Amino acid sequence: MSKPVFRFAPSPNGHLHIGHALSALLNARAAVALDGRFLVRVEDIDQARCTAALEADMFEDLEWLGLPLDEPVLRQSNHFPDYRAALERLQDMGLIYPAYLSRADIRRFVQATEESGKSWPRDPDGAPLYPGDRAVLCEAELSDRMDSDAPFTLRLDMGKALARVGADLTWQEAGSEGKALFDPPEAVAAEAANWGDVVVARKDTPTSYHLAVVVDDARQGITDVLRGQDLYHATSVHRVLQELLGLPQPRYRHHRLILGPDARKLSKSNDDTSLRSLRESGLTLTELRRRIGL
Ligand code: GLU
Repeated sequence: MSKPVFRFAPSPNGHLHIGHALSALLNARAAVALDGRFLVRVEDIDQARCTAALEADMFEDLEWLGLPLDEPVLRQSNHFPDYRAALERLQDMGLIYPAYLSRADIRRFVQATEESGKSWPRDPDGAPLYPGDRAVLCEAELSDRMDSDAPFTLRLDMGKALARVGADLTWQEAGSEGKALFDPPEAVAAEAANWGDVVVARKDTPTSYHLAVVVDDARQGITDVLRGQDLYHATSVHRVLQELLGLPQPRYRHHRLILGPDARKLSKSNDDTSLRSLRESGLTLTELRRRIGL
């Protein structure tokens, strides 16, 4: 059997926090325990927010964590043509449409709908499903936006996509810690319809997180995706894209999240839990491991 390949895939759009440390250390530990490889992928498709300085800081943090990183490191900003090619395949299948509503348009529409006593569906992250341009804009306004240089996203028509791949997709979920690492995976039903028409690219960027992640997991030969529980439901979308693009499916493992004192997910904008500031205030690696329960 070929060796398992794990990856840690941070975005250098802020400093890594202790939740990232948990993810990276769990991946490294699993790779060692299963005699596998451990790769790093820099998920920097958001060129407005990801910077070279943050990326350099990120590698410093990873070095401090003492991870046995394998080569090569993949930087997503070097691979836009590959994402474009995947996007074009989806376009050729007739599954992609340009969508012109801004976040503010969607917010206003949902608010008005809810004020009139109707509910509006939300995706697993809590964002409203895309209502469709024509539910919100009149024809004149829509053609105005199309003819001008207005921003747009490219969305996957989830209904059509599911009709193509079948609605009974599953993914293989294996444990993420301790003994569970060796347990056989269990099939989990993918429920991608709950996401509605997800964004797969933008006017100026030929990919979104969802598209790039499946292309790169396949390119890097990732056999085991071990990441935070916050991405558990996104796996449904990833499975649909893998099926559409004929990509192999890795095993998935989703680990516990480290929550802040307010019981919310940690954020890169909160410097109190950044590895950098904790290190500067004298935290040792042993103390960090204890704090994150490793
Ligand atoms: N880049 C994502 C993040 O920083 C992780 C993606 C993944 O592990 O699939 O949250």
